[in-house]
Formats: sequence, C-alpha cells, structure tokens
Amino acid sequence: MKDDYKVVIGLEVHVELNTESKAFCSCSTNFGAKPNMNTCPICLALPGTLPSLNKKVIEHAIKSGLALNCTINPFFTMDRKNYFYPDNPKNYQITQKNYPICEKGYIDIEDYKGNIKTINIERIHVEEDAGKLIHIQDKTLVDFNRAGVPLIEIVTYPDLCSAEEAVLFVKTLKAILTTCGVSDCRMEEGSLRVDGNISIKNKRLNIQGNRVELKNINSFKSLEKALNYEIDRQIQLMNMDKDIKLETRRWDNDKGITIAMRDKEEGEDYRYFPEGDLTAYKIEESYIYKISQSIPELPRSKYKRFISDYELSSYEADILSQDINISNFFEKAALRSGEPKEAANLILGEVFRILKERQKEIQSFNITGYDLGELILILKEGVISSSTAKVLMEKMFLTGKSAKDIIEEENLSQNNDKDAIGEIVQKVFNSYPKAVEEYNYGKRKVITFLIGMVMKESKGRANPELVKDIILKKLNEV
Ligand SMILES: [Zn+2]
Repeated sequence: MKDDYKVVIGLEVHVELNTESKAFCSCSTNFGAKPNMNTCPICLALPGTLPSLNKKVIEHAIKSGLALNCTINPFFTMDRKNYFYPDNPKNYQITQKNYPICEKGYIDIEDYKGNIKTINIERIHVEEDAGKLIHIQDKTLVDFNRAGVPLIEIVTYPDLCSAEEAVLFVKTLKAILTTCGVSDCRMEEGSLRVDGNISIKNKRLNIQGNRVELKNINSFKSLEKALNYEIDRQIQLMNMDKDIKLETRRWDNDKGITIAMRDKEEGEDYRYFPEGDLTAYKIEESYIYKISQSIPELPRSKYKRFISDYELSSYEADILSQDINISNFFEKAALRSGEPKEAANLILGEVFRILKERQKEIQSFNITGYDLGELILILKEGVISSSTAKVLMEKMFLTGKSAKDIIEEENLSQNNDKDAIGEIVQKVFNSYPKAVEEYNYGKRKVITFLIGMVMKESKGRANPELVKDIILKKLNEV
C-alpha cells in the first residue's frame, strides 16, 4: 500500500548566527543570560528607536550561501512580516521577502550505502528571532533576550522523499555550517530549528494531497519521528478517502503525535512590505571574494581526503569529518604520530567514551590532538601497554599533563626488563607448582593461566610478548 505513495518534503531550517551582538542593536546574543538582561530600547521596540544592520550578520549569511553553493545576489533589501504575538515586541519581524541575500544553491547528501542525492536550496534569507514565552503554572512570562538575535532561514526545494533523507540533509547542513563557524547549530539550545512541509501523492490514482506544515522541530530524533508520523497519518487519510487539511501542525514529543495548531497562513496574511527604516544594500564582488577565502575545507571534501590520505574506513571518515573541532583534533594526532588508523581508533573509542561520560565537548578536552599523537608514539615504542594507554588517557584528561610526564611521575612505563620479568615468572612458578607440573605432563593450556598471573603480579606493566617467551623458556628448562 505504502508503495503507491510518493512522499514530498521541503524543509525550512532556522539557524541562529553566532555573532556577538544582535542583528539590529548592540545587545549581547549570549545564551543562558538572566531573562531580559540582553535587551535595549531597540530590541524592545520602544517608540522612536531605529534599527541598524550588523555587518557580521551579512558576512555570516554570505559565507553560508557560498558554502551551500548559492548565488549571492548583488543587492538585498529587508522587509517587515507583520503578526501579533506576545514574544514579538515590534508586532512585526524584520526579514527578507523579495530580495533575499542568497538563492539557488544545493548540497549533496550521502546515505550509509554510498548513494548520493543532490538537494536543491531555493533561498537563504536573513531575519531576526523572536523572544521566548515561559509558562509557569497559570502565568506566562516573556523573555526578550532572544528578540533580535540574527537568524538565517534556509529553504529547500521539495526534493526530500523520506524522513531519513530529511534527517541526513539537516545533519549535512549542520556539519557545513559549524565547520564555517557561522553557528554552533545546537538543537538543544534552539540555535537550529526545523519546519517541514509534507505532502503525499497517490501515484496509482494520481491524487495529490494538501501540504501540511510541521513547526519548530528541535532534535534529529523528533524530526524523524514527526515526519514518519505525519506521512503515515496522511496515507491513512487518503486511503480512507478523507481530505488532508492544508494546515500547520506541531509535534508533541511526549504523546508521539502531530497536533493541528492553525490553518496554514498564506503570504498575504502577513502583509509584507519593505522595511522603511533600513536601506537597500549593495554587495561588492570583492567583498564576496574576500569572504570566500575565509571558508575552511568543508566536511565532504575532508571526508574524501581522510579516506584517500589516511586510509580510514568510510564510517571513520564520516564521523571524524562532521565537526571541525574533532577533525582538527584527529589530524593533529594523526600527523604527530604518523599512525592515523590508531588515532581514529582511540578517538572513536576512548576519547568519545571519556567525553560522553563527562558530558564534555572536544574543545573543552584537557588534552590536544598533539598530546594524543605523543601518546600513540609512546605506545608504539612499546614503553606502555595498550591497557596502560587507556588509563593514561583518562589521567591526561583529568590533569591536563602530557603522557610523558605522567609515565615518569607514576612509573608507568611497560616493563621490558628481562631479568625483572624473569624474577616475577619464578615467583609465580613457586606459588603455583601444580601448574608447572601439569605443563610438564602435557597440559599446554596452563600457559595462559601462568601469563595471566605474571601480568597480574606486574600490575599489567610487563610486556606480554616477553612474558610468554620467558615462561616458555623457563618451562622447557625445568
Ligand atoms: Zn538590543
């Protein structure tokens, strides 16, 4: 039944730009400040105030446009979108309707099977965010700290055909924008929010359903669940010959359903008109060129390079290329140690485990990629065992000290001293004469037990290869 339907999804992604000040005033954009601390007469819309456009907003918007393969328009204007809502002090939002800053871009998404699909971007425009309503028992309070924080809205063409593709698109977009440094794209803090337009078509009967808009989805999990729920709901309605209403719905995460909010507004409901307090802006070619030079290597090219230059698997390359802080950390470790595979293994394993346990991000990690590279070198030299390396990494993270310093301070180096190991082996033989006897009667398996006991006695520091050689040698002497 589901095969009869074609799913059509277009997304509108709102991304808060990480400028230091707001779009039209000099208030701080700092997240987590006390309510209404980051406000002034301009962003509170007091009479007689005038907005002035923050140049950094335009720089970030152009940078995003270039990274998403858009055309940067030679001039742009700002418009007013009128609507009344308590979190919107001006009763209109400054946005861009007729002359957005960027148009006609695309990005490629690649699924885990290696299938690549191009998703076209209709436009990117700049606008300001609204404040936030806080509901406490029967009261509603309003915090205007977010009012006037700059956003870009990225509007795709309806090129996406499933919830999985939509999630992949947003993940790819996030990787590009964070790499460019225009936003932190933290969905949990609301700096990346997604609206989706979903409709279905019955291919067999050639019936097109109405478009439903899903509002303000703020996690990848919710995005996938909400879209899948909505697709199923629309298919069920069409199967029952019922109308799919043209409306705006929201995702209720607790109930796991979408709920109707209101009939869909059309453009005319907002009475758009040009923002008379701001001029039309011209963008010089030379300015665009200058910005293009500041764009770092993007995740997709990094992904390919990690596979070809470092021989990583596509899985490893994918994870290590998504976040610029992680990819920098990896490359420093790989270059310092000359062991990219080992560096990738340790980062995907131990480093991620430590970060997750302490709920930290790699930027706040106490050790650098260079430090990890040094640790890998020490490991390769056989100075320490791989189990000691793990303990060491934990200590490096806690103290911020280098591997070398900790090894020296705590006398952690791996024991390669044949005489010292020989002494431990003898001690184990003395403690377990029966095991030695069994070996001599042909029970070869006891050797594993003896190695284990020697390793335990040496507190894991004896070189296991040497231990095995010495045990065999001594057993054959007996
Ligand atoms: Zn302000």
